[in-house]
Amino acid sequence: MRWLWFQRTDHTCSWASLPQPQEKLVQAMFNNSITVQIGNGQRSFFWTDKWINGHSIQDIALALLKAITPQTRRKRTVAQGLPNNAWAQDITGALTVQVLIDYLLIWDLIRQGGFTLSNDEPDTFRWKWTSDGKFTTASAYNAFFVGQHALPGAKQLRRTKAPGRCKFFLWLAMHDRCWTAARRKRHNLQDNDACNLCDQQPEEISHLLLSCVFARETWFLVLRRCNLQQLTPQPASPDFFEWWSHCRKQIAKELRKGFDSLVVLVGWLLWKERNQRVFQRNSMTVRELVSLILDEAMIWTHAGHTQLFALLPELLLRSYSANLNGRDLFLV
Ligand SMILES: [Zn+2]
Repeated sequence: MRWLWFQRTDHTCSWASLPQPQEKLVQAMFNNSITVQIGNGQRSFFWTDKWINGHSIQDIALALLKAITPQTRRKRTVAQGLPNNAWAQDITGALTVQVLIDYLLIWDLIRQGGFTLSNDEPDTFRWKWTSDGKFTTASAYNAFFVGQHALPGAKQLRRTKAPGRCKFFLWLAMHDRCWTAARRKRHNLQDNDACNLCDQQPEEISHLLLSCVFARETWFLVLRRCNLQQLTPQPASPDFFEWWSHCRKQIAKELRKGFDSLVVLVGWLLWKERNQRVFQRNSMTVRELVSLILDEAMIWTHAGHTQLFALLPELLLRSYSANLNGRDLFLV
């Protein structure tokens, strides 16, 4: 977009006239981001630029614009189209009632606007996303993303240190794309939507990972080992990622990285336990699952996720003990 701006406003540079690959979206965004004050009309485009009192013909007369060939739309300058109403010659499409209405509207607007070309003054472009009308890359980025809201939890998930497959699972959970029983029922794939962990509530992903009685007991036993049992989710806990964001603000900064990894680990293993029950007909007790979580946490620390040590110092002992056992076995 920066090059488009320079191409229109700084044609003294040698590269300004080089052909540029154009993406439709970027071009449309650019056209909507500038307004033109007509000077000699040589750098403003008659059909696409906003030169009629801050509006373009696309804004005012869409049917008329569709009666112009795309090539003419892109190339016709105001200097070419305005004198003697030469623009009327560009109309090659069918003259429907709406096209004629649009034609008369544009005719009146141009006549009433009293647009005259000045040979001495170049066209002036104004960037509408900054107060001084000058282009900045930051304002262009902000304009592109205006109205978009970040998903709660997306940023912290991106920064969390954990194996990719586990983070990918939580990313799907964040978008409610996991095939839980409730989702399968919504898609008419099964009749029963009961949770596979507690058999009491519909199996939504937030229920499964957070408010399910099985999940809450698991969280309690794991968090108690970190002295964070007060963060155990409640039956009425909100969305999983809201709970995660809320909890990480309650704990010391130096523990947050470990906590983030632990959240991904527990969420991932709760989901795996659910799948074991569905597909393998095997089930673990809460205490067995907690033991598995600690074993897996130790493996993660060996894989480099050492931030878990700060949260679960007992992993150091487990790790040391495992090393000792390994050495003993080796010596034997
Ligand atoms: Zn449940």
